[in-house]
Parts: sequence; structure tokens; C-alpha cells
Amino acid sequence: MNKIGFGYDIHLLKAGRKLILGGVEIPFPLGLAGHSDGDCLIHAIIDALLGALGEGDIGVLFPDTDPEFKDVPSVALLEGVRRRVLEGGWDIVNIDTVIVAEEPKLAPFMDAIKARLGPAVGLKKGALGVKAKTNERLGDIGQGRAIACWAVALLEKPSSS
Ligand code: MG
Repeated sequence: MNKIGFGYDIHLLKAGRKLILGGVEIPFPLGLAGHSDGDCLIHAIIDALLGALGEGDIGVLFPDTDPEFKDVPSVALLEGVRRRVLEGGWDIVNIDTVIVAEEPKLAPFMDAIKARLGPAVGLKKGALGVKAKTNERLGDIGQGRAIACWAVALLEKPSSS
């Protein structure tokens, strides 16, 4: 049996924050605002996994009012959600993602992001898609005020014989 899940997240870019995407720190004068490290790529992946499980969303699991999750690395949250998936008897087949950011150029960091995310979700390179695009200067993302991410995840449960 298979199930898919879909996730989306957007965070504002702010001065005085590190820019963390996919668990990788990217040199840039602005970073993503948020209660955690603001890693909207990982947040979108978490929501895709929870969506596939049919369980709430990241805000239900890790409330931004809970001091326990203040500035917590999102990779740690992702590892927790992966454990939840596995405990439910599911395997993650593949994950595909899109980052929409006008700046900075993310191509040089794609390999590092995949190397960081792959082990966190137990996927090899060929099963983990990370793509970056600009928003063609349109809207708030295109004006560099925010970064948005989309993710889909496919889960599989071996049929009991
Ligand atoms: Mg978020």
C-alpha cells in the first residue's frame, strides 16, 4: 500500500538570522524568521510526511508556543517525524521538493543539502529531489522578502501476507 503527502511552508527573510535550508547554513545577509531555525524546506518535508500519515501538521506536533522548540534545529524535528513514520510500519519511498527563492543562488549548495537531508530521512541521492527556482521577481518571494518551499513524500507499507 502507498500513500502520498504534500507540504508547503513560507518564512520571511530577516536581518540578524542565519539562513538555514535543508539543515545547511547558506552564507547570506538575511535568514529565515521563525521560532525554530526557520528552515522552511524541512518544515515542508515534515508536513508532507505528516500529511501522508494523515496526521495534523508541524504546528500541532511542535507548537511555536512551546519553549522546547525555540531555535531547535529542524533536522532534529525531521528525524523525529521519520521515526514516527517508521513506527507506523511505513517506509519512505521518495521525497521531492522545490525551493522558491529569488536570492541567494542555491545551486552551489544542492549537494550539501542532499547530503544533510538524505540520512535524516533514510533516503539515497536518487530518492531525494531538491530543486531551486526563482519567482521571476514576482510578488513577495520575487522581491526577496520570503522563501517558500513545497514537498511531496511517498510512503509504502509492505502488504502483510
Ligand atoms: Mg515553518
